[in-house]
Amino acid sequence: MRLRNKPWAKDKLEQNPQYVIQDPAACRGKWSEVFDNQQPLHIEIGTGKGQFITGMAKANPNINYIGIEMQESVIVSALDLLIEEQLPNCKLLNSDAADLREFFSNGEVGRVYLNFSDPWPKTRHEKRRLTFKSFLDVYAEVLPEDGEIHFKTDNQGLFEYSLVSFSEYGLTLKYVSLDLHKSEFEGNIMTEYEEKFSSKGNRIYRCEVGYPARK
Ligand code: SAM
Repeated sequence: MRLRNKPWAKDKLEQNPQYVIQDPAACRGKWSEVFDNQQPLHIEIGTGKGQFITGMAKANPNINYIGIEMQESVIVSALDLLIEEQLPNCKLLNSDAADLREFFSNGEVGRVYLNFSDPWPKTRHEKRRLTFKSFLDVYAEVLPEDGEIHFKTDNQGLFEYSLVSFSEYGLTLKYVSLDLHKSEFEGNIMTEYEEKFSSKGNRIYRCEVGYPARK
């Protein structure tokens, strides 16, 4: 994502604590109190400008959503959307996904969404890919036994890499589409990148994978 310097972004994120979690470590194990209900909690990692997470929250008021994005100059656009939509079941977190264990207790997250994650094509950057095994370890801890990752991208190389990574980790492939927009999948909420790349004719790949039961 091309970054524009927004020196005011940090202040704006701090000025909206009803939407932007200010001290996520203090919420660990207590997200039902933060949302003030017992609904399932789904998170999107690399939420960008927030079109997907706010769209999902609007379409599914019985689920709580948190959009996690490490770039404050990007997540501030998601905050604008949230202020506009006033969604009680959606919050934002300006953090690195590598730190998820500090913010969520074991099994506290019902589902992880990864949308158009940065491909990091160079082998020396493999560890930064959000489907690298160290990230799968992190998701395994915050998800319950049967927790799922739902992943979509237009990048064939990243998709193939991720399917191998999921499989080597022992995850079960529950759904796969090699052309989402021509498939029968219903209820797709488009992300900003999805709109941009599908309008250029790129195919969208999507899969759902599940963690095995723990012994
Ligand atoms: N999901 C959005 C979409 O589909 O339009 C944005 C896609 S953009 C290519 C990927 C985003 O993931 C970037 O905004 C980047 O800052 C964020 N990201 C990458 N690694 C991350 C990490 N470890 N933790 C949180 N966000 C991350």
